[in-house]
Amino acid sequence: MIDKSVYDKLITYQDILTDKFRLEEQMDDLPKIIASKNEVLLRAKKSYLTKHKRFKQLEENVHSLEKKINELRLEKSEYEEKINLVKTQKEYEAIDRTLKTNKEREDEISIQIMQDRRMTDDLRSDIEDYELNLKQQEEEISKEQDRINIELDKIKKELDVIKKKEAEIVPEIGDDFRYKFEKIVKNKEGKGIVAITGGYCTGCFLVLPPEYINKVRSNDKIYFCPNCSRTLYFDESPDNIFTINDEEMDDSDFFSFDE
Ligand SMILES: [Zn+2]
Repeated sequence: MIDKSVYDKLITYQDILTDKFRLEEQMDDLPKIIASKNEVLLRAKKSYLTKHKRFKQLEENVHSLEKKINELRLEKSEYEEKINLVKTQKEYEAIDRTLKTNKEREDEISIQIMQDRRMTDDLRSDIEDYELNLKQQEEEISKEQDRINIELDKIKKELDVIKKKEAEIVPEIGDDFRYKFEKIVKNKEGKGIVAITGGYCTGCFLVLPPEYINKVRSNDKIYFCPNCSRTLYFDESPDNIFTINDEEMDDSDFFSFDE
């Protein structure tokens, strides 16, 4: 025989577990908000770094092209001095050719510098936008983290209270049964113990045969719904007892379900 108060304990334990599972789920979910924001931030940082690297490369390129153009100009003035001192037409033509090639090269480099500068200017403003945006994202995440930490603290406190209640009730429920019951509460939307009312399990609405209902009612041990595995107890309210009519019960319903 079991003490009928065990059902009340199980209902209390079920409420405790439901609260505990809900809070644990919240604790798991809260950091996920930040995780996805951090992922976005990380991607933005990566593309910022790529742009920054490209910017530095272009800057270096412009720098070396400017160096090259200065060299060409120096050469040019040297040749211009030489051309005044030439003695033959052949020498004159050779220097003149060199000066022309030099000029063409200088023009090419000037165009390249202009293009690279335009690109560095665009990249610079792009990079500035990125920096501003990254800063905003980081601030937002930091604020969100603060908010989450406060929330987590609150949940932890609530959980502590619930775990104390759990620790008080657990010794009154056998360990083997407790694990089974916990699993049912977790898997069956917080309902691990349900009443038999009107001849059926109020967890899954399976119609139960009268013999089975009588067994549950006898309280010789704890019974489970053969369909949904929830712990069953008989609802002893007068209305319920009145509705029990053995002749109306049909065993075929009971056996048609897989256990
Ligand atoms: Zn059931």
